[in-house]
Amino acid sequence: MGTEKVIHACRLHIEMAIDDFVNEEESAPEIIKVQNEKCSYCEEKAEYVIKK
Ligand SMILES: [Zn+2]
Repeated sequence: MGTEKVIHACRLHIEMAIDDFVNEEESAPEIIKVQNEKCSYCEEKAEYVIKK
């Protein structure tokens, strides 16, 4: 139901990503290491995906 929020974050933006997730979802996210993804906040390579 609805769209699941998924944020990709580089090392610099991981804390921002977690804050955004918690603000919107009001629950703690799952944080998984990823490769070959781009950060949702900048042009850097993402190191993590944050999702439910
Ligand atoms: Zn970034």
